[in-house]
Amino acid sequence: MWIAYLTVIRMYDRPSHTLPSFDAYVDKVFHLREALPALRDARQDTEIPPAAVFRALFYGFVFRLRSFKELEADLAQPQLQQHIGAPRSFRDDALRYSLASFATEPLEQMLVAVNRQLKRNKALDPGRVQGHLVAALDGIEVLSSFSRCCSDCLQRRVTCTGADGQPVERIQYYHRAVGCQMVSSPVKAFLGLEWVAPGEGEDKAALRLLARLPDLYGSHFFDILLLDSLYAQAPVVNLAQEVGWSLVLTLKQENRDLYQDAFVLFSTREAEDRFTEQHPGQRREVQLWSESNLPFTQECPQPVRVVHSQEAVTENHYRRGQRQPETTFQEWVWIDTLNPQMFSPRAVWRLGHSRWKLENNGWNDLTQNWALKHGFLHACKHRPKQPTAEDRAKLVPNRGLAAVTLVLLLAFTLCSAFCLLHSKLVRRYHVSLREVARQLYRSLCQQPPARAP
Ligand SMILES: [Zn+2]
Repeated sequence: MWIAYLTVIRMYDRPSHTLPSFDAYVDKVFHLREALPALRDARQDTEIPPAAVFRALFYGFVFRLRSFKELEADLAQPQLQQHIGAPRSFRDDALRYSLASFATEPLEQMLVAVNRQLKRNKALDPGRVQGHLVAALDGIEVLSSFSRCCSDCLQRRVTCTGADGQPVERIQYYHRAVGCQMVSSPVKAFLGLEWVAPGEGEDKAALRLLARLPDLYGSHFFDILLLDSLYAQAPVVNLAQEVGWSLVLTLKQENRDLYQDAFVLFSTREAEDRFTEQHPGQRREVQLWSESNLPFTQECPQPVRVVHSQEAVTENHYRRGQRQPETTFQEWVWIDTLNPQMFSPRAVWRLGHSRWKLENNGWNDLTQNWALKHGFLHACKHRPKQPTAEDRAKLVPNRGLAAVTLVLLLAFTLCSAFCLLHSKLVRRYHVSLREVARQLYRSLCQQPPARAP
Protein backbone atom coordinates (compact mmCIF):
# COMPACT_ATOMS: atom_id res chain seq x y z
CA MET A 1 0.00 0.00 0.00
CA TRP A 2 2.73 2.44 1.04
CA ILE A 3 4.86 1.40 -1.93
CA ALA A 4 1.98 2.08 -4.33
CA TYR A 5 1.32 5.43 -2.63
CA LEU A 6 5.00 6.40 -2.87
CA THR A 7 5.07 5.35 -6.54
CA VAL A 8 2.10 7.65 -7.27
CA ILE A 9 3.76 10.51 -5.32
CA ARG A 10 7.00 9.95 -7.23
CA MET A 11 5.13 9.99 -10.57
CA TYR A 12 3.61 13.38 -9.77
CA ASP A 13 6.93 14.65 -8.38
CA ARG A 14 8.76 13.88 -11.60
CA PRO A 15 10.00 16.87 -13.50
CA SER A 16 8.41 17.07 -16.94
CA HIS A 17 9.35 18.56 -20.29
CA THR A 18 8.40 22.14 -21.06
CA LEU A 19 7.72 23.84 -24.36
CA PRO A 20 10.50 26.45 -23.80
CA SER A 21 13.03 23.61 -23.34
CA PHE A 22 11.83 21.97 -26.59
CA ASP A 23 12.03 25.31 -28.47
CA ALA A 24 15.48 26.06 -27.04
CA TYR A 25 16.70 22.64 -28.20
CA VAL A 26 15.38 22.84 -31.78
CA ASP A 27 16.58 26.45 -32.17
CA LYS A 28 20.03 25.90 -30.65
CA VAL A 29 20.80 22.58 -32.34
CA PHE A 30 18.82 22.85 -35.60
CA HIS A 31 18.45 26.66 -36.02
CA LEU A 32 14.78 26.18 -36.87
CA ARG A 33 13.86 29.82 -36.21
CA GLU A 34 16.45 31.03 -38.73
CA ALA A 35 14.72 29.09 -41.52
CA LEU A 36 11.27 30.64 -40.92
CA PRO A 37 11.70 33.86 -43.00
CA ALA A 38 12.17 31.73 -46.15
CA LEU A 39 8.66 30.22 -45.85
CA ARG A 40 6.09 31.55 -48.31
CA ASP A 41 2.64 30.92 -49.78
CA ALA A 42 0.57 32.44 -52.60
CA ARG A 43 -1.72 34.65 -50.47
CA GLN A 44 -1.75 38.38 -51.29
CA ASP A 45 -3.09 39.70 -48.02
CA THR A 46 -1.10 38.09 -45.21
CA GLU A 47 -2.08 39.38 -41.80
CA ILE A 48 -1.10 35.95 -40.50
CA PRO A 49 2.44 35.39 -41.81
CA PRO A 50 3.37 32.04 -43.46
CA ALA A 51 5.83 31.41 -40.58
CA ALA A 52 2.92 31.59 -38.08
CA VAL A 53 0.87 29.16 -40.20
CA PHE A 54 3.85 26.81 -40.33
CA ARG A 55 4.41 27.04 -36.58
CA ALA A 56 0.70 26.46 -35.85
CA LEU A 57 0.75 23.22 -37.86
CA PHE A 58 4.20 22.21 -36.58
CA TYR A 59 3.09 22.49 -32.93
CA GLY A 60 -0.19 20.81 -33.84
CA PHE A 61 1.87 17.77 -34.86
CA VAL A 62 4.27 18.12 -31.90
CA PHE A 63 1.22 17.97 -29.60
CA ARG A 64 -0.13 15.03 -31.68
CA LEU A 65 -3.40 16.77 -32.53
CA ARG A 66 -5.46 14.70 -35.00
CA SER A 67 -7.19 17.35 -37.15
CA PHE A 68 -7.31 21.00 -38.19
CA LYS A 69 -10.48 21.35 -36.12
CA GLU A 70 -8.56 20.42 -32.94
CA LEU A 71 -5.83 22.88 -33.89
CA GLU A 72 -8.42 25.61 -34.56
CA ALA A 73 -9.75 25.22 -31.02
CA ASP A 74 -6.23 25.65 -29.62
CA LEU A 75 -5.54 28.66 -31.84
CA ALA A 76 -8.20 30.51 -29.84
CA GLN A 77 -5.77 30.38 -26.87
CA PRO A 78 -3.64 33.52 -26.50
CA GLN A 79 -0.73 31.32 -25.31
CA LEU A 80 -0.55 29.48 -28.64
CA GLN A 81 -1.03 32.70 -30.69
CA GLN A 82 1.84 34.27 -28.77
CA HIS A 83 3.96 31.16 -29.16
CA ILE A 84 3.65 30.97 -32.95
CA GLY A 85 3.88 34.73 -33.56
CA ALA A 86 0.28 35.23 -34.75
CA PRO A 87 -1.27 38.68 -34.07
CA ARG A 88 -4.71 37.12 -33.41
CA SER A 89 -6.58 33.84 -33.46
CA PHE A 90 -7.43 32.33 -36.85
CA ARG A 91 -9.76 29.64 -38.10
CA ASP A 92 -9.02 26.39 -39.88
CA ASP A 93 -10.12 27.95 -43.20
CA ALA A 94 -7.22 30.43 -42.91
CA LEU A 95 -4.87 27.49 -42.25
CA ARG A 96 -6.21 25.68 -45.31
CA TYR A 97 -6.05 28.74 -47.55
CA SER A 98 -2.38 29.30 -46.70
CA LEU A 99 -1.20 25.68 -46.68
CA ALA A 100 -2.93 24.75 -49.96
CA SER A 101 -0.63 27.27 -51.68
CA PHE A 102 2.47 26.77 -49.52
CA ALA A 103 5.84 26.58 -51.28
CA THR A 104 7.23 23.11 -50.58
CA GLU A 105 10.90 23.83 -51.49
CA PRO A 106 11.70 25.80 -48.29
CA LEU A 107 10.03 23.06 -46.21
CA GLU A 108 12.11 20.40 -47.95
CA GLN A 109 15.23 22.52 -47.38
CA MET A 110 14.38 22.67 -43.65
CA LEU A 111 14.09 18.87 -43.54
CA VAL A 112 17.42 18.47 -45.36
CA ALA A 113 19.13 20.97 -43.00
CA VAL A 114 17.81 19.09 -39.95
CA ASN A 115 19.06 15.75 -41.30
CA ARG A 116 22.47 17.15 -42.22
CA GLN A 117 22.78 18.63 -38.72
CA LEU A 118 21.93 15.22 -37.22
CA LYS A 119 24.75 13.72 -39.26
CA ARG A 120 27.23 16.51 -38.39
CA ASN A 121 26.41 16.02 -34.70
CA LYS A 122 27.12 12.29 -35.09
CA ALA A 123 23.54 11.53 -34.00
CA LEU A 124 23.19 9.00 -36.84
CA ASP A 125 26.28 7.04 -35.71
CA PRO A 126 24.75 4.76 -33.04
CA GLY A 127 23.43 1.63 -34.77
CA ARG A 128 25.81 1.79 -37.75
CA VAL A 129 26.12 -1.69 -39.26
CA GLN A 130 29.82 -2.48 -39.44
CA GLY A 131 30.48 1.22 -39.73
CA HIS A 132 27.78 1.77 -42.37
CA LEU A 133 24.68 3.98 -42.26
CA VAL A 134 21.55 2.17 -43.44
CA ALA A 135 18.44 3.71 -45.05
CA ALA A 136 15.31 2.09 -46.49
CA LEU A 137 12.95 3.00 -49.28
CA ASP A 138 9.27 2.31 -48.88
CA GLY A 139 5.89 3.36 -50.20
CA ILE A 140 2.68 4.25 -48.39
CA GLU A 141 -0.89 4.99 -49.33
CA VAL A 142 -1.70 8.27 -47.63
CA LEU A 143 -5.44 8.52 -48.31
CA SER A 144 -8.26 6.99 -50.31
CA SER A 145 -11.77 8.15 -51.12
CA PHE A 146 -14.72 7.18 -53.32
CA SER A 147 -16.05 10.73 -53.54
CA ARG A 148 -13.34 13.38 -53.21
CA CYS A 149 -10.72 13.61 -55.93
CA CYS A 150 -8.20 16.06 -57.32
CA SER A 151 -6.12 16.33 -60.49
CA ASP A 152 -3.22 14.46 -58.82
CA CYS A 153 -5.32 11.51 -57.62
CA LEU A 154 -4.44 7.95 -58.63
CA GLN A 155 -7.44 5.76 -59.53
CA ARG A 156 -8.33 2.10 -59.22
CA ARG A 157 -11.43 -0.04 -59.59
CA VAL A 158 -12.63 -1.62 -56.35
CA THR A 159 -15.40 -4.17 -55.92
CA CYS A 160 -17.77 -3.23 -53.08
CA THR A 161 -21.07 -4.56 -51.85
CA GLY A 162 -23.99 -2.46 -53.16
CA ALA A 163 -27.20 -1.50 -51.31
CA ASP A 164 -28.88 -4.66 -52.70
CA GLY A 165 -26.08 -6.87 -51.34
CA GLN A 166 -24.71 -7.48 -54.86
CA PRO A 167 -21.06 -6.81 -55.77
CA VAL A 168 -20.62 -3.46 -57.52
CA GLU A 169 -17.51 -1.96 -59.06
CA ARG A 170 -16.56 1.59 -58.04
CA ILE A 171 -13.67 3.94 -58.78
CA GLN A 172 -11.54 4.72 -55.76
CA TYR A 173 -9.22 7.74 -55.66
CA TYR A 174 -6.00 7.60 -53.65
CA HIS A 175 -2.55 9.08 -53.13
CA ARG A 176 0.69 7.18 -52.63
CA ALA A 177 4.16 8.41 -51.77
CA VAL A 178 7.60 6.82 -51.65
CA GLY A 179 9.88 7.84 -48.77
CA CYS A 180 13.49 7.24 -47.84
CA GLN A 181 14.18 6.88 -44.13
CA MET A 182 17.25 6.20 -41.98
CA VAL A 183 16.79 2.86 -40.23
CA SER A 184 20.11 2.17 -38.49
CA SER A 185 20.05 5.22 -36.18
CA PRO A 186 17.84 5.75 -33.09
CA VAL A 187 16.19 8.77 -34.79
CA LYS A 188 14.52 7.32 -37.89
CA ALA A 189 14.85 10.53 -39.89
CA PHE A 190 13.02 10.83 -43.23
CA LEU A 191 15.45 12.05 -45.88
CA GLY A 192 12.92 12.75 -48.61
CA LEU A 193 9.55 11.95 -50.12
CA GLU A 194 8.21 11.71 -53.66
CA TRP A 195 4.53 11.48 -54.67
CA VAL A 196 3.45 8.92 -57.24
CA ALA A 197 1.93 10.83 -60.19
CA PRO A 198 -1.18 9.64 -62.08
CA GLY A 199 -0.30 7.11 -64.77
CA GLU A 200 3.14 6.20 -63.47
CA GLY A 201 4.36 3.22 -61.42
CA GLU A 202 5.73 3.47 -57.90
CA ASP A 203 9.15 2.47 -59.24
CA LYS A 204 9.26 5.71 -61.29
CA ALA A 205 8.61 7.84 -58.18
CA ALA A 206 11.24 5.83 -56.27
CA LEU A 207 13.84 6.41 -58.97
CA ARG A 208 13.01 10.14 -59.03
CA LEU A 209 13.46 10.32 -55.25
CA LEU A 210 16.76 8.41 -55.29
CA ALA A 211 18.09 10.57 -58.12
CA ARG A 212 17.21 13.72 -56.13
CA LEU A 213 18.79 12.64 -52.83
CA PRO A 214 22.46 13.28 -53.78
CA ASP A 215 21.44 16.75 -55.07
CA LEU A 216 19.62 17.51 -51.83
CA TYR A 217 22.35 16.20 -49.52
CA GLY A 218 25.46 16.87 -51.59
CA SER A 219 26.84 13.38 -50.99
CA HIS A 220 25.68 9.81 -50.71
CA PHE A 221 24.70 10.57 -47.04
CA PHE A 222 24.08 6.89 -46.19
CA ASP A 223 25.94 3.75 -47.29
CA ILE A 224 23.41 0.92 -47.59
CA LEU A 225 19.90 1.11 -49.05
CA LEU A 226 17.26 -1.53 -48.28
CA LEU A 227 14.34 -1.85 -50.69
CA ASP A 228 11.91 -4.41 -52.00
CA SER A 229 11.58 -6.03 -55.38
CA LEU A 230 9.01 -3.50 -56.60
CA TYR A 231 11.88 -1.01 -56.93
CA ALA A 232 14.51 -3.57 -58.00
CA GLN A 233 14.91 -2.25 -61.52
CA ALA A 234 18.08 -1.83 -63.56
CA PRO A 235 18.03 2.04 -63.37
CA VAL A 236 18.01 1.85 -59.54
CA VAL A 237 20.94 -0.61 -59.52
CA ASN A 238 22.88 1.60 -61.95
CA LEU A 239 22.13 4.77 -59.99
CA ALA A 240 23.20 3.15 -56.70
CA GLN A 241 26.50 2.09 -58.25
CA GLU A 242 27.05 5.62 -59.59
CA VAL A 243 26.26 7.31 -56.24
CA GLY A 244 28.09 4.75 -54.10
CA TRP A 245 25.21 3.07 -52.25
CA SER A 246 25.30 -0.67 -51.60
CA LEU A 247 21.90 -2.29 -52.11
CA VAL A 248 20.01 -5.03 -50.30
CA LEU A 249 16.91 -5.94 -52.33
CA THR A 250 14.20 -8.19 -50.93
CA LEU A 251 12.96 -10.40 -53.74
CA LYS A 252 9.46 -11.82 -53.87
CA GLN A 253 8.36 -14.94 -55.74
CA GLU A 254 8.46 -13.38 -59.17
CA ASN A 255 9.31 -14.71 -62.57
CA ARG A 256 12.79 -13.30 -62.43
CA ASP A 257 15.59 -15.12 -64.23
CA LEU A 258 18.05 -14.55 -61.44
CA TYR A 259 15.70 -15.90 -58.82
CA GLN A 260 15.04 -19.06 -60.82
CA ASP A 261 18.76 -19.64 -61.52
CA ALA A 262 19.67 -19.19 -57.89
CA PHE A 263 16.96 -21.61 -56.78
CA VAL A 264 18.22 -24.33 -59.08
CA LEU A 265 21.68 -23.88 -57.54
CA PHE A 266 20.44 -23.94 -53.97
CA SER A 267 18.16 -26.97 -54.40
CA THR A 268 21.17 -29.22 -54.97
CA ARG A 269 23.29 -27.89 -52.11
CA GLU A 270 23.49 -28.24 -48.35
CA ALA A 271 22.88 -24.99 -46.45
CA GLU A 272 26.15 -23.20 -45.74
CA ASP A 273 25.03 -21.65 -42.46
CA ARG A 274 22.54 -22.84 -39.82
CA PHE A 275 21.67 -20.96 -36.65
CA THR A 276 18.86 -20.34 -34.19
CA GLU A 277 17.71 -16.95 -32.94
CA GLN A 278 15.73 -16.86 -29.74
CA HIS A 279 13.59 -13.82 -28.87
CA PRO A 280 10.93 -13.54 -26.15
CA GLY A 281 8.00 -15.62 -27.42
CA GLN A 282 9.71 -16.51 -30.72
CA ARG A 283 12.30 -19.01 -31.87
CA ARG A 284 13.67 -18.78 -35.43
CA GLU A 285 15.69 -21.68 -36.92
CA VAL A 286 17.46 -20.45 -40.03
CA GLN A 287 19.29 -22.14 -42.91
CA LEU A 288 21.19 -19.92 -45.35
CA TRP A 289 22.49 -20.36 -48.90
CA SER A 290 24.32 -17.79 -51.01
CA GLU A 291 25.86 -17.39 -54.45
CA SER A 292 28.07 -14.49 -55.52
CA ASN A 293 28.88 -12.99 -58.91
CA LEU A 294 25.53 -13.56 -60.64
CA PRO A 295 24.53 -10.88 -63.18
CA PHE A 296 21.62 -8.74 -61.93
CA THR A 297 19.77 -9.01 -65.26
CA GLN A 298 20.77 -9.40 -68.90
CA GLU A 299 20.50 -5.66 -69.60
CA CYS A 300 22.19 -4.77 -66.30
CA PRO A 301 24.91 -7.39 -65.82
CA GLN A 302 26.38 -5.85 -62.66
CA PRO A 303 27.51 -8.80 -60.45
CA VAL A 304 25.36 -9.33 -57.37
CA ARG A 305 25.10 -11.90 -54.60
CA VAL A 306 21.91 -13.87 -53.91
CA VAL A 307 21.17 -14.94 -50.32
CA HIS A 308 18.37 -17.41 -49.66
CA SER A 309 16.94 -18.42 -46.28
CA GLN A 310 14.54 -21.10 -45.11
CA GLU A 311 13.19 -20.32 -41.67
CA ALA A 312 11.09 -22.25 -39.17
CA VAL A 313 9.46 -19.69 -36.87
CA THR A 314 7.93 -21.03 -33.66
CA GLU A 315 5.68 -18.73 -31.64
CA ASN A 316 3.33 -19.27 -28.73
CA HIS A 317 -0.35 -18.74 -29.53
CA TYR A 318 -3.50 -19.12 -27.44
CA ARG A 319 -5.91 -21.70 -28.84
CA ARG A 320 -9.08 -22.38 -26.84
CA GLY A 321 -7.47 -20.81 -23.75
CA GLN A 322 -4.35 -22.98 -24.05
CA ARG A 323 -0.93 -21.53 -24.79
CA GLN A 324 0.74 -23.70 -27.38
CA PRO A 325 3.71 -23.38 -29.74
CA GLU A 326 2.97 -23.14 -33.47
CA THR A 327 5.58 -23.33 -36.22
CA THR A 328 5.34 -21.63 -39.61
CA PHE A 329 7.83 -21.92 -42.49
CA GLN A 330 9.15 -18.95 -44.43
CA GLU A 331 11.43 -18.53 -47.44
CA TRP A 332 13.28 -15.33 -48.21
CA VAL A 333 15.57 -14.20 -51.02
CA TRP A 334 17.79 -11.11 -51.00
CA ILE A 335 20.06 -9.67 -53.67
CA ASP A 336 22.92 -7.49 -52.46
CA THR A 337 25.84 -5.50 -53.77
CA LEU A 338 27.68 -5.35 -50.41
CA ASN A 339 31.35 -6.15 -50.05
CA PRO A 340 31.28 -9.92 -49.29
CA GLN A 341 34.57 -9.66 -47.36
CA MET A 342 32.84 -7.35 -44.88
CA PHE A 343 29.24 -8.63 -44.94
CA SER A 344 28.61 -12.36 -44.55
CA PRO A 345 25.32 -13.91 -45.81
CA ARG A 346 24.20 -13.84 -42.17
CA ALA A 347 24.78 -10.05 -42.08
CA VAL A 348 22.64 -9.73 -45.25
CA TRP A 349 19.94 -11.85 -43.57
CA ARG A 350 20.00 -9.48 -40.58
CA LEU A 351 19.80 -6.37 -42.80
CA GLY A 352 17.05 -7.92 -44.92
CA HIS A 353 14.89 -8.58 -41.87
CA SER A 354 15.52 -5.12 -40.43
CA ARG A 355 13.63 -3.74 -43.40
CA TRP A 356 10.47 -5.47 -42.22
CA LYS A 357 10.81 -3.95 -38.79
CA LEU A 358 10.66 -0.57 -40.55
CA GLU A 359 7.14 -1.26 -41.71
CA ASN A 360 6.10 -1.42 -38.07
CA ASN A 361 8.19 1.52 -36.86
CA GLY A 362 8.36 3.98 -39.73
CA TRP A 363 5.25 4.64 -41.79
CA ASN A 364 3.01 2.77 -39.37
CA ASP A 365 4.11 5.01 -36.52
CA LEU A 366 3.30 8.05 -38.66
CA THR A 367 -0.15 6.79 -39.58
CA GLN A 368 -1.15 5.44 -36.16
CA ASN A 369 0.40 8.02 -33.85
CA TRP A 370 0.96 11.07 -36.01
CA ALA A 371 -2.25 11.50 -38.04
CA LEU A 372 -0.60 10.96 -41.44
CA LYS A 373 -3.68 9.35 -42.99
CA HIS A 374 -6.10 12.15 -42.26
CA GLY A 375 -6.01 13.50 -45.81
CA PHE A 376 -5.37 17.08 -44.74
CA LEU A 377 -6.26 19.47 -47.54
CA HIS A 378 -6.95 16.79 -50.11
CA ALA A 379 -9.06 18.16 -53.00
CA CYS A 380 -9.26 21.52 -51.19
CA LYS A 381 -10.67 24.17 -53.56
CA HIS A 382 -10.28 27.01 -51.04
CA ARG A 383 -6.99 28.39 -52.31
CA PRO A 384 -5.57 31.61 -53.76
CA LYS A 385 -6.12 32.52 -57.43
CA GLN A 386 -3.47 32.68 -60.13
CA PRO A 387 -5.40 34.37 -62.98
CA THR A 388 -4.31 33.74 -66.57
CA ALA A 389 -5.44 35.44 -69.81
CA GLU A 390 -7.73 32.45 -70.55
CA ASP A 391 -8.98 31.85 -67.01
CA ARG A 392 -9.41 34.81 -64.63
CA ALA A 393 -10.50 32.51 -61.82
CA LYS A 394 -7.69 29.93 -62.13
CA LEU A 395 -6.52 28.62 -58.75
CA VAL A 396 -2.87 28.02 -57.79
CA PRO A 397 -1.89 24.32 -57.86
CA ASN A 398 -2.88 22.51 -54.66
CA ARG A 399 0.31 21.77 -52.72
CA GLY A 400 -1.52 21.28 -49.42
CA LEU A 401 -1.03 17.54 -48.94
CA ALA A 402 2.68 17.74 -49.87
CA ALA A 403 3.26 20.75 -47.59
CA VAL A 404 1.44 19.23 -44.61
CA THR A 405 3.32 15.93 -45.03
CA LEU A 406 6.69 17.74 -45.02
CA VAL A 407 5.74 19.63 -41.84
CA LEU A 408 4.73 16.31 -40.29
CA LEU A 409 8.10 14.73 -41.21
CA LEU A 410 9.91 17.72 -39.66
CA ALA A 411 7.87 17.45 -36.45
CA PHE A 412 8.43 13.67 -36.33
CA THR A 413 12.22 14.00 -36.73
CA LEU A 414 12.64 16.91 -34.30
CA CYS A 415 10.42 15.33 -31.63
CA SER A 416 12.32 12.03 -31.98
CA ALA A 417 15.64 13.90 -31.67
CA PHE A 418 14.42 15.82 -28.60
CA CYS A 419 13.24 12.65 -26.86
CA LEU A 420 15.94 10.18 -27.90
CA LEU A 421 19.04 12.37 -28.10
CA HIS A 422 18.41 15.21 -25.66
CA SER A 423 15.92 14.29 -22.94
CA LYS A 424 17.38 12.95 -19.71
CA LEU A 425 13.82 12.30 -18.45
CA VAL A 426 13.05 9.85 -21.28
CA ARG A 427 16.21 7.91 -20.40
CA ARG A 428 15.75 8.05 -16.62
CA TYR A 429 11.99 7.41 -16.35
CA HIS A 430 11.32 5.65 -19.69
CA VAL A 431 8.64 8.21 -20.54
CA SER A 432 6.90 7.36 -23.83
CA LEU A 433 7.21 9.75 -26.76
CA ARG A 434 3.45 10.26 -26.67
CA GLU A 435 3.64 11.28 -22.99
CA VAL A 436 6.38 13.80 -23.85
CA ALA A 437 3.95 15.28 -26.43
CA ARG A 438 1.29 15.57 -23.71
CA GLN A 439 3.77 17.21 -21.33
CA LEU A 440 4.68 19.81 -23.97
CA TYR A 441 0.99 20.48 -24.61
CA ARG A 442 0.24 20.88 -20.87
CA SER A 443 3.22 23.19 -20.58
CA LEU A 444 1.73 25.48 -23.25
CA CYS A 445 -1.46 25.83 -21.21
CA GLN A 446 0.60 26.66 -18.10
CA GLN A 447 2.47 29.52 -19.80
CA PRO A 448 1.32 32.97 -18.62
CA PRO A 449 -0.81 34.69 -21.31
CA ALA A 450 0.69 37.66 -23.12
CA ARG A 451 0.46 40.97 -21.24
CA ALA A 452 -1.76 43.68 -22.73
CA PRO A 453 0.36 46.42 -24.34
ZN1 LIG B 1 -6.29 13.67 -54.90
